[in-house]
Amino acid sequence: MAKPWARISSLQIVACVSLVCSVAASAGRADGIEIVRDGRSLAVIVLKPGAHTLEQEATDDLRWAVREATGVTLDVLPESPVTGERKPIRIGSQAGLPSDTPYDGGEVRAGGGGIEVLGATPAGVANAAATILMEDFGVRMYYPEPQFTIVPRAKSLRIRTRTVAPQFAYRLWSGLVGRDAAAYVRRNRLTDGRIPIRHHGFGHNLASIISVAKHGQEHPEYFALRSGVRQLRGSDSGDTAQPCFTNPDVARLSIEAARRYFDENPAQDTFSLCVNDNSRYCQCDTCAALDKPYRNLPVGRQYSESYFDYVAKVAEAVAQSHPGRYLGVFAYWNVEQPPRNRTRLPDNVLVALTLDILQHYDPAYRDKDRVLIRAWNGYTKNLHTYVYYGLGWYTPRMSPRLAAEDLRFAARNGVRAIYCESYPFWAWCGPMHYVAARLQWDVNADVDRILDEFHRDCFGDVAAPMRAFHDACERYWTRPRSGKWFEGLDRLAPEEAMADATILREARSHLEKALAETKDPLIRSRIAWLKKGFDFTTAVADAFDAKKTATDSPNGLERLVSTAGAVETAYEWLVTEPAYVHSYYERGARFDGKCWGWFKGPLRTAVEARWSELHRSLPAAEADAKWKAVADESGLTRWLERRRWEFRFDSSGR
Ligand SMILES: [Zn+2]
Repeated sequence: MAKPWARISSLQIVACVSLVCSVAASAGRADGIEIVRDGRSLAVIVLKPGAHTLEQEATDDLRWAVREATGVTLDVLPESPVTGERKPIRIGSQAGLPSDTPYDGGEVRAGGGGIEVLGATPAGVANAAATILMEDFGVRMYYPEPQFTIVPRAKSLRIRTRTVAPQFAYRLWSGLVGRDAAAYVRRNRLTDGRIPIRHHGFGHNLASIISVAKHGQEHPEYFALRSGVRQLRGSDSGDTAQPCFTNPDVARLSIEAARRYFDENPAQDTFSLCVNDNSRYCQCDTCAALDKPYRNLPVGRQYSESYFDYVAKVAEAVAQSHPGRYLGVFAYWNVEQPPRNRTRLPDNVLVALTLDILQHYDPAYRDKDRVLIRAWNGYTKNLHTYVYYGLGWYTPRMSPRLAAEDLRFAARNGVRAIYCESYPFWAWCGPMHYVAARLQWDVNADVDRILDEFHRDCFGDVAAPMRAFHDACERYWTRPRSGKWFEGLDRLAPEEAMADATILREARSHLEKALAETKDPLIRSRIAWLKKGFDFTTAVADAFDAKKTATDSPNGLERLVSTAGAVETAYEWLVTEPAYVHSYYERGARFDGKCWGWFKGPLRTAVEARWSELHRSLPAAEADAKWKAVADESGLTRWLERRRWEFRFDSSGR
C-alpha cells in the first residue's frame, strides 16, 4: 500500500509484455474462444446473484453488442452449467488477479474452461468488458447519442485473452450529460465515480474545514489577513477566504478533519486539502515571511510557500495515523508554482496541476506549462493533471492534436491520472473528445488512425468532407495568437475578438456538402444532428459580423436584430438536446449573461444611432412614428419584450 505508483508502473511494464506475448501466441493457436458461430450461440453468460451494478451493466452491454452484431441473444445464468456445449463467460471480480492490478484494470482469460472477465474491482470488470466490445467486436461509441454507436455486423464472434490496464490511473470527466452519457463513459473506459476512485479526492475544500460560520466569530485569526483586515466574508464555499496557513490551530483542525474523514469513510483513500476558489490569501507577517519576495505571475501572486508548508504538516501527521491514505491538493492559480522553500512534498500528497491545455497552440504558453509539469514531477511522486477541454465556447474551441500532445507529454513526465472538465459542444468537439478518451486509456494509440476510423465509421461515403469540416474547426482554434488562461470563460467578447468568419464559412460549406452528398439516411441524420448545433455557432459568428456594420450601414440594425433572432432559434434547438444541456448552455443566468449580455451593447448602440438619425432628419412626431415602424418591422420590439429590455430615448437624443 505504501507505494501505489511503483506498483502501477511495474504493472504497465507487465501489460506491455503480455500484449507482445498474446500477439505472438495468437499467431500460433486458435485465436480466443468462439462465442457465436453462424448465428448460433456457443456461450452463456454467468453472472452471480447480487453482482455490482457495474458488473450488471457490463453484462447488459456484452449481450447488447452480441445481439446487435449477430442477432444472437446470449442467455444469462446465475451459475456455470455443469455440462453442455455452451462455454461459460463468467463476469466477476478479482479471482486470482496479480496483486499489482490497478483498481480499474483486470484481465480476460479465454481457456479450456470458458472465458473469465475479471477486474480488481467492478470498475475493472466493466473495463474488461468494454475492451472486449472495442477490440474483439469493433464496437464504437463516438458521441453520447444513440445514432453514433457503431456495432459491426458479424456471423461469428470470438473473445481473446488479454490484460486490461489503463495508462492513467483515473480518467474522470465532468460535464458529460444526457441520456447516453453513462454509456459513453462505460464504452470508452472513462472513470465511473460509482465506486471509490483510488487516489482521487480533489475539490475546493478548505472552507469546510476552517469555516466562517463555525470559527469566524471566536477565531478571526484563522482567516486570511489582508491590508490589516481579517477576511471573514463568505458562505463556507468557494467564496470563503483562505485560512491563515501558518496558524497552528488551522493545521491542527485540518489534521483532525482528515483523520475523522478517513475513520468515517474507510472506502475512501484521499481527503482534499484543495484551496478555496478565490484569491484571498493570507499576508500576515508569518505567512508573508515564507512567501516574500512574492512571485507575481500572469495567473496571480503566488502563496505556494505558506500553503505547501501547511499541506506538508498535515500530510506528515496523517501518514503517522493513517498510513496508505492521501491528501489531494490543486496546484492552481495562486498556488500554481512549486514552493521555493522545499524540494519535495511528502509521498502521501497527491498534486493535481490545473492546465488549460488548449492554449498550447501558442508555443510560448505551452512551454511554460511543460516547465511547470517537469518541475512538479520533481516535487511529488503523485502528479495528476486537471485539464479543461470545454470552457463553454460557442465558436470552435477544439484540437484533437493538442489534446493528444498534452497526454503524451504528461505520460512521459510522471503524470499518473487525469481529471478533465470535458463540457462538450458536440457540433464540433467530437473528434477531440474521442481521441482524448482513447489516449487516456492508451497513450500510444495512433491519432491519425483513430481520426480516420472516426470519420469512416460515422460518415462513410462523406468521410472526406466531414474530416475537412473538423480540420477547419481545429484550424480555427489553433491559429497563431497569444495563449490566455481561461480565455472566453463566461464572456463572448474574447470569442468575437478572435473570430474568423472565413474559416467558419469554409467549415460550414464542408458540412453542407457532406449533408447534400451522402446517400445514406443514417449518415444524413447524424450530420443533421451536428449541423443543428453548428447553426448556433454560425448564428453567433454572423452576429459578430453584423455588429461591425450595425451603426453605419442602411440595414445594419435590421441585420443585427435578425442575427439575434437566428441565435435564439438555434439555441431553442440546443436546449432540447440532452447531450448539450450542461452548465454552460442550459437556460439560466450563466447563458443569459454571456450570450444576451453581449447583444445588449451593440443593439443599444445601433438603436440609438437609428433613432437619432430619424430625429435629425424628420420632425419629432414623424420620427417617432417611423421609429416605431422600424422597431416593429425589424422584430426588435418583440425581441426586446422577450428579453424584458427597454431602451429609452427622448427627443433631446437621450
Ligand atoms: Zn497568515
